[in-house]
Amino acid sequence: MEHSPASNFLETVIAEDLASGKVSEVVTRFPPEPNGYLHIGHAKAISVNFGLAERFGGRCNLRFDDTNPEKESQEFIDSILEDVRWLGYDWAGEVRFASTYFQQLYDWAVVLVEQGDAYVCDLNAEQAREYRGTLTEPGRNSPFRERSVEENLDLLARMKAGEFAEGEKVLRARIDMASPNMNMRDPILYRIRKVAHHQTGTDWVIYPTYDFAHGQEDAIEGVTHSVCTLEFEDHRPLYDWFISHLPVPATPRQFEFGRLNPSYTITSKRKLKQLVDDGTVNGWDDPRMPTVSGMRRRGFTPAAVRKFCDMIGTTRSDGVVDVAMLEFAIREDLNDNAPRGMCVLNPLKVVLTDYPADQLEQLVAPSHPSRPELGERQLPFSRELFIDEDDFREEANKKFKRLVLGKRVRLRNAYVIEADSVVKDEQGRVVEVHAHTIPDTIGNDPADGIKPKGVIQWVSATAGRQATVRLYDRLFNDPAPDKGDKNFMEHINPESLREVIGAWIEPSLAAALPEQHFQFEREGYFVADRFDHTGEAPVFNRTIGLRDSWSDQA
Ligand code: ATP
Ligand code: MG
Repeated sequence: MEHSPASNFLETVIAEDLASGKVSEVVTRFPPEPNGYLHIGHAKAISVNFGLAERFGGRCNLRFDDTNPEKESQEFIDSILEDVRWLGYDWAGEVRFASTYFQQLYDWAVVLVEQGDAYVCDLNAEQAREYRGTLTEPGRNSPFRERSVEENLDLLARMKAGEFAEGEKVLRARIDMASPNMNMRDPILYRIRKVAHHQTGTDWVIYPTYDFAHGQEDAIEGVTHSVCTLEFEDHRPLYDWFISHLPVPATPRQFEFGRLNPSYTITSKRKLKQLVDDGTVNGWDDPRMPTVSGMRRRGFTPAAVRKFCDMIGTTRSDGVVDVAMLEFAIREDLNDNAPRGMCVLNPLKVVLTDYPADQLEQLVAPSHPSRPELGERQLPFSRELFIDEDDFREEANKKFKRLVLGKRVRLRNAYVIEADSVVKDEQGRVVEVHAHTIPDTIGNDPADGIKPKGVIQWVSATAGRQATVRLYDRLFNDPAPDKGDKNFMEHINPESLREVIGAWIEPSLAAALPEQHFQFEREGYFVADRFDHTGEAPVFNRTIGLRDSWSDQA
């Protein structure tokens, strides 16, 4: 097979392994633990693993590493399946679960005991910590380390049978308490947990640790390149130790890459859970969350998320990536693909005094300025319309290129109008602008040569619809909200959500289906909310503004 040049070290390794015949087919896997929703970092891991399989004509499995029943749930499993599919990836064969390998893993634990490579230990957690030593001091052997094979086999069987209480005993590998690598100091293989498991029910009262399960699961599945993040680098010797001490059917090799940490973002599941549990956000799929379901609801597209994951590359260092790169990818995709529409967020009524009250003119506008194949939209024009409050001033200098009393402006895709007078309420606020149309200005400049300085959006008060628009922004106002000992809860952007109840949208937007993307001209990119949007009650989420409003502040 011919391939374009490798674009990262993983591709280089795999290309070499294929060329040398070390492997004949590439098998990778994405192994989430179902204890939370997937986030942008997982999207990166997904794109790496599925991407490698795709590129080299191999397979990528989806496997739930479900060794921790207390923290896991079906809700998380379902969300993960949905998110991987949404990102556009399809796993090889059935969805896999570590829990389907529990018997095999147990049998292998027995093999280790029989070989004298594992023992049942009665130290409690605190004692075990003491015996373990520190980074600078070697650990000490557990007093239970020299138990006979027979005794260990008996105790392990009784652990499995539920004869002991949680914490009373664990099964440990017998490796080296003096190893400079803490992971090699007789790590725990099995612990007693008398909790039901979402997949295996009450079949088991002992559960394998992630460390004991992970490499063997890969071996069972014939994973050739087990790709994970750098924090597992120190675990690799342990995984290799298990593989070399067990009669496993295959020898996976592990490769680590740097975690994705976008600025202004947290990617710790524990901290994301705290935001949800505290009610700081409205659930895991709140559009401000860096979760895949949050990004989806926000209006990010799978193509843009994948593009971003490619753009940032895959390296062996844990750097921070500017979140503006993700936002750039979204803007670029939506600029190319999102139909245009007009929405007025802060409505101010304009009455065109020369325009007949009973007239409704059907104007048309292209759905997209450079993609005629996306068609046209009907744009009813009427005597009463709404423009944005910010687009009108009674007086203004030349820099204000919108509507000013006595001056002209072009209504986007419609007439040039000129403002004549205002109606004010008791507080002196302008509540209505009276204006007139300049004849024959659809697609033409005014015949008298007095050109308008600017173009503004508008919505017919007769044919338009009201909508709720949720203006989202970055959730944190600090580039590194959880760095060091910072408390991320103190860096929540108070402006991260502003809800506008009575916005006006043009009729074509009222026909939007949930999850349809738009550019609201001059306002930004928006998506019809996945869950709350209906024809009767339109709800749009701001995906991202037209320009990066954060970069000037940095
Ligand atoms: P936990 O602390 O619960 O283990 P986790 O984020 O590591 O959290 P997993 O479900 O174990 O969650 O992750 C599945 C895979 O996604 C792992 O291989 C992990 O390395 C990868 N992954 C997790 N976070 C990131 C990240 N920020 N960037 C790249 N890959 C990530
Ligand atoms: Mg993990």
